[in-house]
Amino acid sequence: MTPPGALASVTGTVDLVDRTSRQVRYLRISLLDRCNYRCTYCMPDEPMEFGAREEVLRLEEVVSLAAAFARWGVQRVRLTGGEPTLRRGLVDLVGSLARLDAHTPSGLRPLEVVMTTNAERLAPMAAPLRQAGLRGLTISIDSLVPERFARITRRGNLHNVLSGIDAANAAGYEHLKLNTVAIKGFNDDELAELAMFAWSKGMTPRFIEQMPMSGGATFVPGEMMSAAQVRDAVARVVGSELVADDGQGVRGHGPASYWRVASGPWAGYRLGTIGALTENFCGTCNRLRVSATGQLHGCLARDETGDLRAALRGGRCGEVERVVKRVLATKRDAHAFGLDGHGGPRKAMMSIGG
Ligand code: SAM
Ligand code: SF4
Repeated sequence: MTPPGALASVTGTVDLVDRTSRQVRYLRISLLDRCNYRCTYCMPDEPMEFGAREEVLRLEEVVSLAAAFARWGVQRVRLTGGEPTLRRGLVDLVGSLARLDAHTPSGLRPLEVVMTTNAERLAPMAAPLRQAGLRGLTISIDSLVPERFARITRRGNLHNVLSGIDAANAAGYEHLKLNTVAIKGFNDDELAELAMFAWSKGMTPRFIEQMPMSGGATFVPGEMMSAAQVRDAVARVVGSELVADDGQGVRGHGPASYWRVASGPWAGYRLGTIGALTENFCGTCNRLRVSATGQLHGCLARDETGDLRAALRGGRCGEVERVVKRVLATKRDAHAFGLDGHGGPRKAMMSIGG
């Protein structure tokens, strides 16, 4: 196997624009395909078969890839998993990534490094990660009721997650978001409460429609709550209309559209909805994803990949660039997620990190 030094050969240039003129500025990197939770919509509660340790990208390989993408125009890297806080060496990795320069149209600026976590283990890590240069955190919580939280995560302890949120607040992150998968018959009665909790902690709440990953294996069709239903449910409880930030829900380059409470005690507070199924979010997609084993995915919702790990370890000059160009060409205009649970990819959300 070629040592990590082989990456010195990633010196070529890739124009990160896909065939529908979408410019890639954002890279999500899964640090490992394991998790301390077993969220019901994310993975089955069976013993999982994980790949051998050498199949997972080494930290130096992650840094080399991120450096190449930052040179080609990626401005933000999100670390995810599985659960990224389980990855040994995480704080040092964040430090190395945060020291990279991103090449932007207006010149060089530090690569923005952010992370998505279940926060079970975050409390002692929040300050060191912030000091290492992590700028933002997205924390996933589907219920504020301890018994429900334990049921949906099959392993989680809400108290630890809440401590993680407090530690993140104390550490002074630039932005904090709260992710909730909205599920009928499970948390549909506490969505406004989750939003108010997030606002009271200085976080932006975002509600996600459940997506049929894993060939639909973990998807229960009647459970999916649409983005519009989520907005109605929150508006009813906060006693105010939600207005789009800009006419019809402001969508940045991410999948969420953002809405603002118009009046009442929460006036001005914002929330995001991710209408993966009912408000196809592909049009403005600006991202690529690297799995823990170094597979480059053009789309969350499709299974085509390119093998960056083989390209890196093979040490053949220009191979990483060729893989990236090939995968860029497979990026599609839209996904095929169906409300019946069909049309999604075979891969699990846990393997690609959302
Ligand atoms: N373990 C970390 C966490 O849970 O935040 C990071 C990885 S997790 C796969 C990233 C996000 O994907 C979480 O917010 C989770 O709720 C969401 N997610 C997982 N499976 C999903 C599904 N089938 N549909 C919609 N969102 C899903
Ligand atoms: Fe783990 Fe995140 Fe999947 Fe839950 S959603 S099982 S915390 S990877």
